[in-house]
Amino acid sequence: MTEIIYGHKLAAKFKTEIKRETDRLCFMHKRMPCLAVIMVGDHPASLSYIRAKEKACKEVGILSRTYVLDKAISQQELEEVISACNEEEEIDGILLQLPLPSMLDEEHALAVIDPRKDVDGLHSENIARLYLKKPGFIPCTPSGIMALLEYMHCDLDGRHAVVLGRSRLVGTPVSRLLLNANATVTICHSHTSNLSVLTRQADVLIAAVGKANYVTADMVKEGVFVVDVGVNRLADGHLCGDVDFAHVKEKAAAITVVPGGVGPMTIVMLLKNTLQAYQERTGC
Ligand code: NAP
Repeated sequence: MTEIIYGHKLAAKFKTEIKRETDRLCFMHKRMPCLAVIMVGDHPASLSYIRAKEKACKEVGILSRTYVLDKAISQQELEEVISACNEEEEIDGILLQLPLPSMLDEEHALAVIDPRKDVDGLHSENIARLYLKKPGFIPCTPSGIMALLEYMHCDLDGRHAVVLGRSRLVGTPVSRLLLNANATVTICHSHTSNLSVLTRQADVLIAAVGKANYVTADMVKEGVFVVDVGVNRLADGHLCGDVDFAHVKEKAAAITVVPGGVGPMTIVMLLKNTLQAYQERTGC
């Protein structure tokens, strides 16, 4: 019997735990944890992500400060805003909403974030920590995926995990987390040949390509654990994942839904990282 996994249910459990901890710490330190979100321009999708993050922060007792910067801002001005957030004692976490407009240098801007406040886990120091298996901030979507696999009771040790996609935000870091959990990992991308031969070998399949219903039932084996990261808008306005859910679910041991699967877990991991930053900065 296939287990259908609703990320928002797991996210709600995490939020309850985070709220309990923020209440306790706030009572001790007389201040709430604080997340600064920096956005350049007014892209509607980015704005709606930011609103969702603000709402989630409020639910768990984390303050959020949103900086919406003019899309014509210079690299230097952007980095001055980031530096000011680094210096601000009351700010625990900094999130730079990506993508930035093309004339800005994302790498350079991310490098300015204080690694101790880098709750998105994209600073090179935190990336290195992930690769060295040292404590640090792990990017939110990959850690949400790992929490979902645990929730599915998917034992990764010795299993073959196939990851579709190798992006900096999702595919590459989740591959490393799977490897750290002793899975044998195959990473596929747009140049991979015989992709379905590889996906059919997967005990665990992570789909993060951004193509609607790309993974079909003939591409998976019976009993596979599937995490569908993709979010694709169809012509009729509905959202769907990268996996043909209706048919793949007939073969899977467990499969996440879209929407309401990985998305809520991504946000909750941002809250968790912000709480972690606060705890590390306040020493408790
Ligand atoms: P991305 O940066 O566009 O990366 C897509 C990856 O898929 C690339 O590595 C690309 O390969 C690979 N790819 C493209 N076509 C492929 C094909 N035919 N076969 C195999 N691999 C292929 O996207 P992303 O940021 O990783 O996001 C992926 C999806 O997840 C998107 O739908 C995005 O909206 C969604 N997402 C959801 C959340 C959430 O919280 N729910 C968070 C982040 C992303 P190359 O490297 O060769 O180009």
